[in-house]
Amino acid sequence: MKVYTIVNQKGGVAKTTTTFNLGIGLAKQGKKVLLIDADPQGSLTICMGNREPDSLEHTISTVIAEMINNDTVNKDLAIIHYDENVDLLPSNIDLSAMEASLVNVMSRETILKNYIDIVKDDYDYILIDCMPSLGIITVNALACADRVIIPAQAAYLSIKGFQALIKTINTVKRKLNPKLEIEGILLTMVDRRTNIAKMIIDEVNNAYGKVVPILQTEIPRSVAVEESIALGE
Ligand code: ADP
Ligand code: MG
Repeated sequence: MKVYTIVNQKGGVAKTTTTFNLGIGLAKQGKKVLLIDADPQGSLTICMGNREPDSLEHTISTVIAEMINNDTVNKDLAIIHYDENVDLLPSNIDLSAMEASLVNVMSRETILKNYIDIVKDDYDYILIDCMPSLGIITVNALACADRVIIPAQAAYLSIKGFQALIKTINTVKRKLNPKLEIEGILLTMVDRRTNIAKMIIDEVNNAYGKVVPILQTEIPRSVAVEESIALGE
């Protein structure tokens, strides 16, 4: 079982789209997949056909609360099953309040890891979709990961943003999760017609090429992708 965390503190770079499509792709190959929505906006939860995440009774927040109070949780508490061989641990706005309340909790960085230890035998892959911040929930998502995928839009790659992200990843690796590795930067919404993209990719390669591989696979901009998300298909 491998855990992939999809992270970038910048919003709108296709974290959710990547998590969703990678998950469905792996399921189509016969793998058992759990998608974890770790964003209070619940975009992944919406993508998966739940139109009103805020009306869900049980979510990642309920699971975290159970883990804090009892050190364990019923595997089926919040997970939604799909015919496509994919499961979802949904999220909603409750995660914001939950994150704020974690400040005083012991071992607050490893709650999600302890949860994954409970469910991991049921899956081949667990993919975690992060919120656009590097707060304690995102640190949880990094503390339980084998690999990190960083979706980024070439046209907006910011060296400064990467510094903060790489620093957080390295700190988590050093203090919480020595096995953590960066799989690479996944360029999304690539429009080959622009030259600026290539220039920026070269720049990032020069600055970070040794630390962070840029994945060979690029995701082109596609209207069908946008439509499928909007339609929840
Ligand atoms: P994030 O989770 O990083 O905030 P999203 O996955 O929600 O980003 O994507 C942001 C927007 O970009 C969404 O409206 C999504 O439909 C759109 N999008 C993502 N990938 C593509 C793509 N390959 N082609 C066209 N639109 C895309
Ligand atoms: Mg998202």
